[in-house]
Amino acid sequence: METGENENNPGGALRLLPSVDALMQTEAAQRLSGTAGLRHITMLARVVIEGLREGLKLGSLGAETGSSKESLLAEAERRLQAAWHSENNAGLRRVINATGVIIHTNLGRAPLSDAARAALFNHASGYCTLEYNIETGKRGKRGARAEHLLAELTGAESALIVNNCAAAAFLTLTVLAQGGETIISRGELVEIGGDFRVPDVMAQSGTALVEVGTTNRTRASDYERAITGQTRLILKVHPSNYKIVGFTLTPTIAELAVLARSRGIYLYEDAGSGALFDLSGYGLGDESVISQSLVAGADVVTFSGDKLLGASQAGLIVGKQEVIEKIRRHPLYRALRVDKLSYAVLEATLEAYRKETVAREIPALRMLSLTKEQIAERARRFIGALEHGGGAEKGFSYTIVDGVSALGGGAAPETKILTALVSVQHTEMSAAQIEQKLRAAQPPVIARVAENKILLDLRTVSENEERELISTLLNL
Ligand SMILES: *Cc1c(COP(=O)(O)O)cnc(C)c1O
Repeated sequence: METGENENNPGGALRLLPSVDALMQTEAAQRLSGTAGLRHITMLARVVIEGLREGLKLGSLGAETGSSKESLLAEAERRLQAAWHSENNAGLRRVINATGVIIHTNLGRAPLSDAARAALFNHASGYCTLEYNIETGKRGKRGARAEHLLAELTGAESALIVNNCAAAAFLTLTVLAQGGETIISRGELVEIGGDFRVPDVMAQSGTALVEVGTTNRTRASDYERAITGQTRLILKVHPSNYKIVGFTLTPTIAELAVLARSRGIYLYEDAGSGALFDLSGYGLGDESVISQSLVAGADVVTFSGDKLLGASQAGLIVGKQEVIEKIRRHPLYRALRVDKLSYAVLEATLEAYRKETVAREIPALRMLSLTKEQIAERARRFIGALEHGGGAEKGFSYTIVDGVSALGGGAAPETKILTALVSVQHTEMSAAQIEQKLRAAQPPVIARVAENKILLDLRTVSENEERELISTLLNL
């Protein structure tokens, strides 16, 4: 007992604590200072030494570490590297998405097409024609090309692009309905991904929410009865991430358009993901097709750039010229507009729609269209390569199991996308341990874990990444 207390004697041990200067002289600190800057690493070194001081006081460092100046300095050096590593990992970096969730909100939603990646680099990373017309040598209209493509592809009179779909909804509601009433069905007062709640966005836009109908059934006559002298807008929201099935009823856009026009109010549809063409061939028959909503008479439709469309974050607003110009002139548009990087990505992505090459160009649609058999075939070759590489000798076993991929991005929640998963197990390591090692790999691999097995869905792994993934799995 007595010996134990002596060993943990804080007063004695604190004398062994290295100084910040001593830590800064170590090989690791010198090297990190070169990468991250002397000032920053000195700051981290202070935090590390403080942590060690606390550890010594509380006796929580372990006898070995706290026993000598050398071991404490080694521990400080190790902690300094770990602190920098973890700080660095918090930055944006490429990952391999082996989860099978195609529009993965936590992993950057839609992956960009090769053309969009090239456009980002070639057209937008330096000086560019953001607001310059090369033909006239005068100031040009910002976003003109992307807006033009968007209008052409949706059949809209006009188009406008803002920061994301939430911004598009906020701006549209503000411009068209602030100070007045907006009618919406009780079945569409939805929450999309935690921070986008339709009633909250309406409140922020300064429009009074008038709910009509019931959760499952709303008729055109419900909307009609709710119209007053204060009504500015009828809002239709695509429920996106959930679906009401069974005894349901909702009026069509065409019915509501007739009503809105006869009463001199606007009809606005927030389509969420939205599709530029009918995606029933991809098993997504429920996605509202933007051009159809416009033909049916919606005055304005908004949708996201980085969901099914396959571009980067953006809110796309299309509709009647008079409405779009009203929105463009509002001071709030200036605060919500996008930069040259977004326009470059959108232009390149929309070009693929115009050329009708989306099926092979847009990664999200390409992934979505892969059949279970195609993925199983890839999985077999993948496992073959792992076995050829000596995975079995290292204690790994691989099998193919049935599973489902997900579209993600808060769309088509009921769509079952059948897939073939590569299941990985190890004789000694648990699935949780393998998962952790995969995350620590370069580039990090994000996988699923179920029933103590690692599950890899190759649907969301590109062919190029397969080689990296194989080498990561063989070097765990
Ligand atoms: C996803 C979604 C939004 C929000 O879009 P962001 O681009 O993420 O801002 C708004 N409305 C609907 C119906 C959606 O599905």
